[in-house]
Amino acid sequence: MIDRNRLAETFQSLVSIDSVSREEGQLARELAKSLTKLGAETTFDRAGEKVGGDTGNLVAWLKGTASLPPLLLSAHMDTVEPGKGVTAVLQDGVFTSDGTTILGADDKSALAIILETLQVLKEDRIAHGPLEIVFTICEEVGLMGAKHLDYDLLTAAYGYVLDATDTDGIVTRAPAANRLEFVVHGKASHAGAAPEKGINAIWLAGQAIGGLSLGRVDRETTCNIGVIEGGIATNIVPDKVIVKGEVRSHDSKKLLAVTDTIVSAFQRAVDACCAETYNEERPRLEVIIEKDFPATHIPENHPVVTLAQQAAANLGRKLICKSSGGGADANIFFEKGIFTGVLGTGMKDVHTVGESVAVEDMVKAVELLIEIIRLQAAG
Ligand SMILES: [Zn+2]
Repeated sequence: MIDRNRLAETFQSLVSIDSVSREEGQLARELAKSLTKLGAETTFDRAGEKVGGDTGNLVAWLKGTASLPPLLLSAHMDTVEPGKGVTAVLQDGVFTSDGTTILGADDKSALAIILETLQVLKEDRIAHGPLEIVFTICEEVGLMGAKHLDYDLLTAAYGYVLDATDTDGIVTRAPAANRLEFVVHGKASHAGAAPEKGINAIWLAGQAIGGLSLGRVDRETTCNIGVIEGGIATNIVPDKVIVKGEVRSHDSKKLLAVTDTIVSAFQRAVDACCAETYNEERPRLEVIIEKDFPATHIPENHPVVTLAQQAAANLGRKLICKSSGGGADANIFFEKGIFTGVLGTGMKDVHTVGESVAVEDMVKAVELLIEIIRLQAAG
């Protein structure tokens, strides 16, 4: 039987341990202890060294009571800022922070849900296949834990990441993303004494950005310019501006096309500049394009989807396939060949000090997870 008080207590104790990205060590050690108590074998990979963190990803294996293909269950251990010194407040069945920090339900509600699920499997002696449990680091800083995970530790072909809001949804589609960085080099000069000798990098970047249509490009594509840095003083013609942005799309051709459009806008602005005035000294553009994460598209008839939908149906619920606008560890698992659906935990308003999660929603997530595991073992 699911013990909702125990679930709430587990959640409360997890959020009381600080674990901002790269500082998940203490939380990871506590989770490893809990997993060991539940009969799992645990290890840490070396991802922490690669990302400058104080721990690697936590990987655990729970032997099955039946010999079946293993299932992956995953959540991330890190939180965003302000995430230190969290005090969880439980009122009318809903957890919030005290208003000065985030709550950390993203993604500690998932950690608590997975621990409660394993507890119930053990206590109620529910038949299950082998479970591979991955608690990642640094999800919030570019899916770094998943990107550096030691995949030799895993054999699961499919599984579930718990890192979404809706307890009646499974995310099967997510966009690919490119990170863009432009460095516009102009020429510095005194703005009052010799402005004609300068090439204004801020103005050049402005020309490029002004001609772009940003935001939602179409149903499956978005783009944004999110950071601009440059200039030193009002009396100096600025010689350097850094502009950072991103493009996301469910369609790889559109991702490429929109990326190209933005790059061309910068190139045109720089090429068109001061053609007659400056013969030798020209502005210059550096472009850095980084693939942030690949697109995920799990067919709706894949076992990871049908198993979860049948489990929901057995509980009298309906699980809807959803598309997300963001990246999650599941995108990286998918790229590595593990079909991973993203399930909801009930967490709301994440990455804000108004973040919350209802105990009832976490209970619903545990119910679904147990039924998924039970159903898989029942064949
Ligand atoms: Zn998350």
